[in-house]
Amino acid sequence: ATTTAPRRLSVLGSTGSIGKSTLDLVTRNRERYQVVALTANSNAEALAAQARDVGAEVAVVADPAAYGALKDALAGSGIEAQAGPEAVVEAAARDADWLMAAIVGAAGLAPTLAAVARGATVALANKECLVCAGDLFMAEVRRHGTTLLPVDSEHNAIFQVFDFERPERIERLILTASGGPFREWTREAMAAATPEQAVAHPNWSMGAKISVDSASMFNKGLEFIEAYHLFQVAPEKIEILVHPQSVIHSAVGYVDGSVLAQLGAPDMRTPIAVCLAWPDRMPAPVARLDLARHGRLDFYAPDPERFPSLRIVREALRRGGVAPTAMNAANEVAVAAFLGRRIGFLDIPAVVEATMEAVMAGPLGNQAVDALAAVMAVDSEARRLAEAQAGRLAAA
Ligand code: NAD
Ligand code: MG
Repeated sequence: ATTTAPRRLSVLGSTGSIGKSTLDLVTRNRERYQVVALTANSNAEALAAQARDVGAEVAVVADPAAYGALKDALAGSGIEAQAGPEAVVEAAARDADWLMAAIVGAAGLAPTLAAVARGATVALANKECLVCAGDLFMAEVRRHGTTLLPVDSEHNAIFQVFDFERPERIERLILTASGGPFREWTREAMAAATPEQAVAHPNWSMGAKISVDSASMFNKGLEFIEAYHLFQVAPEKIEILVHPQSVIHSAVGYVDGSVLAQLGAPDMRTPIAVCLAWPDRMPAPVARLDLARHGRLDFYAPDPERFPSLRIVREALRRGGVAPTAMNAANEVAVAAFLGRRIGFLDIPAVVEATMEAVMAGPLGNQAVDALAAVMAVDSEARRLAEAQAGRLAAA
């Protein structure tokens, strides 16, 4: 075999669920990779331990209050310590060949755009980037010739079976959804759901925010917008199909009736490995799919009555402009309020819908979201209105 120089890579959000899975693959192939930057929000100890383990060049906490702890934890290691949101953006702009964007929420937009602007290969887990700023994000990807690889399991599945040379022969995308932990719950039961019940996903182990999104099915809604931007397919050609076993990760339907799908065990290390090795493949230590053990796979249409998120998201995409940006920010606020036990589970779609309407009717309603500053202005206005809305519901 030929020896090649190690690939230089960075991981934004390395202490999270996706970040840890990424470093798990990296540390199984240490000679192939050189880690440039690792970033986290505030968990300095976990970040420093990772940085020491992989020999990173720089470790960055977004929260300035965690700087002292990071500096102490890295003392004597020769690894640079940095703090603050601007330092995260600078870390993302360092000269890595490959970057994993795995910060959760719109907080990941500025650093991910900094990596996109370098024209590096960007593995995108941070779907909120495409929801809050999809047109801007994809325009930047095209402008800089960036290779964008989808990490989200559904989009990674579609990416693997999508004929990029003949997109006009594609009739539809089929996005599969597990249905989450409340798939069979009544609305009455959902009204009383606790954060513990919402984050207990039947198939996937993930961060708290995406787990709640999965329970409300906002996750599938966000993925609908993500698919629209990534694959430039009209919204009416994107279907959502509930498939509780999470074996078929999504599919592409062609004009001749063929449907090509990607299957596998529900372990994010498979789509991450696809992105790490792309266009090659690498071994991943995941359970092997055993269809005989499954015996059967189930499918059905999502229930719009119990999961209003799907209607809200389609509406946000149809209205365009500030609507998806406001919707995403409001959802982040509502999920945090639910996790903090300030509002109920069914208040999440209520906060999102009311906030989206309020932002569209307000002074920023006709604002173009074609630059980072404009996106962040809409995002913070929506957060302010969503906090107020959540406060009213909490007091009621
Ligand atoms: P997580 O909560 O486990 O980790 C989030 C990471 O982002 C952590 O390292 C955290 O320190 C960092 N972070 C949080 N807030 C930050 C801020 N304000 N500034 C800078 N860094 C911040 O989340 P996760 O489950 O790993 O998900 C990460 C992203 O990947 C999300 O957008 C999620 O939707 C997407 N995703 C996750 C999965 C999964 O299986 N976990 C699957 C598909 C897509
Ligand atoms: Mg997904």
